[in-house]
Amino acid sequence: MILKNCMEICASKYIDEAMKNANMCTCERCRLDTLAITLNKLPPKYIVAAGSIASTKIKSLELQYDAVIRKEAEEAAFIVKRKNRHDLQ
Ligand SMILES: [Zn+2]
Repeated sequence: MILKNCMEICASKYIDEAMKNANMCTCERCRLDTLAITLNKLPPKYIVAAGSIASTKIKSLELQYDAVIRKEAEEAAFIVKRKNRHDLQ
């Protein structure tokens, strides 16, 4: 059994596009920073799953939170772009 935050799976789909739009560094550190900031602004949606998470669950979250996730991902991308932390490990 695994405990998984469906919002994390969902938000990670929006991160790459938001980072591309922000025209910023896309290294692993900046990507995870952007994802962390985004997820801190969104409600967690934990589920317990036996294996892989049902895609219907992810899909319904996407439909419900699409605009919110998009907005938070874009804001997070700009925050990381302004102040990236790859030098401060
Ligand atoms: Zn970077």
